[in-house]
Amino acid sequence: MFINIHTHTQIYDAKLELVNADLISSDRTNYYSYGLHPWYLKEDTTDQQLRTLAMRATEKRCLAIGECGLDKVCDTDLKLQERVFMEQIKLANDLRKPLIIHCVKAFNEVLNCLNFSDNTVPVIFHGFNNNDNIARLLTEQGYYFSFGKALMGFESNAARAIVSVGRKKFFLETDTADVSIKYVYRKASELLGIDEEILKQQIVSNFETVFNHKL
Ligand SMILES: [Zn+2]
Repeated sequence: MFINIHTHTQIYDAKLELVNADLISSDRTNYYSYGLHPWYLKEDTTDQQLRTLAMRATEKRCLAIGECGLDKVCDTDLKLQERVFMEQIKLANDLRKPLIIHCVKAFNEVLNCLNFSDNTVPVIFHGFNNNDNIARLLTEQGYYFSFGKALMGFESNAARAIVSVGRKKFFLETDTADVSIKYVYRKASELLGIDEEILKQQIVSNFETVFNHKL
């Protein structure tokens, strides 16, 4: 069974695709996550969006809150990003749903927000492609990773991290990349030197643990 933990459109090539759903659109897939992405925050609409998010996130098939987080490379004011991220951490903890994190050059700030909020839900850093030190730091905190197309890059950070973080600690995703999740699995099993079937079983087990959801 293929699980795609983070995509923006349903592709129908995995048994379970967790689609990053649009709060406004009424299209709903089988399973999805809701979150306010730091790129698109606007001071004057944020509170309304947070209220809509809080309402919709209670839906049973909304399995996670995200992607949400911090991005120091985008134009959105960092203070606004932090405020909205903290609200989403609180919501995830109220609803007991995992967080799917978007983090660009802001790992310290993201960790501070999580610690300051006394977060206790599982945290998945999606699209991970960062260096060994960051991988170690997040591993020490017990956080999870999701790897996508960066695995395909020659000797990428992601390709090293998938080996170092441990098999119980990661998921696979396509995000916005035009690639089948099957190829991401194939590449991951090559890098880990394990059979694809074993990898699939491992990720099903990781999913059941993190999402408290029996498949
Ligand atoms: Zn994404």
